[in-house]
Amino acid sequence: MRVQTHLMFFLVLVLFSVAGIWRLSAMPDFQLFGELKHRAEIHDKWIALTFDDGPTPGKTEQILQILQSEQIPATFFLTGQEVAQHPDLVGKILAAGHQVGNHSYHHQRLIFKTPSYISTELEQTDDLLRQHGVDGVIYFRPPYGKKLLLLPWYLMKHHRVSVTWDVAPENFPKIAKDPQALADHTVKHTKAGSIILLHVMYDSRAATMQAVPEIIRRLKAQGYRFVTVHELLKKEQASKS
Ligand SMILES: [Zn+2]
Repeated sequence: MRVQTHLMFFLVLVLFSVAGIWRLSAMPDFQLFGELKHRAEIHDKWIALTFDDGPTPGKTEQILQILQSEQIPATFFLTGQEVAQHPDLVGKILAAGHQVGNHSYHHQRLIFKTPSYISTELEQTDDLLRQHGVDGVIYFRPPYGKKLLLLPWYLMKHHRVSVTWDVAPENFPKIAKDPQALADHTVKHTKAGSIILLHVMYDSRAATMQAVPEIIRRLKAQGYRFVTVHELLKKEQASKS
């Protein structure tokens, strides 16, 4: 009986630890090693709009059209796989003056993966982006925001910066399908230096696509200036020196 109680206690402990590590691995403002940016510490009302996944046909043109009519830049974290499938769309994003980042090749959770798997996922995607003429720093955004041990270790070793977010309205299931609520949440939680995470590349994200123009207009009306992630982080650097 006593042994059974101890065993039960032990199992509960293991379960809580696993749950804790799982949650820790997805925290946007924590990474065990290397540099992680989930926002910029600045006072000016500069912010960055970021779009994950893709590029996908149709949706890419649609979001580019919105950004063009609002005259603002954004940052697209693309998957290598989709870049390889739709090279023309990457060209369109870059030609419009937006920034692109690395969102891995296959969009797998990069936890419990071998170092060589992690390295291939990042390097293959970088190579593709470089082939499109991307030069300078390529920021990395982990799929599902997941990072635990080996990925952060790899990123640190290779002096890579992870970029996550401090505003992610779609993470709240109650509002994820409601354009008005998505816009309200985003406007309410954005502050100077914010990095906003949105998804517009798939049909399931139609509500977000619909919310984007309103998000941009309302934040502009509050005096916010939209810049790329790179510009935002450069601004932070400049304000520190
Ligand atoms: Zn993603």
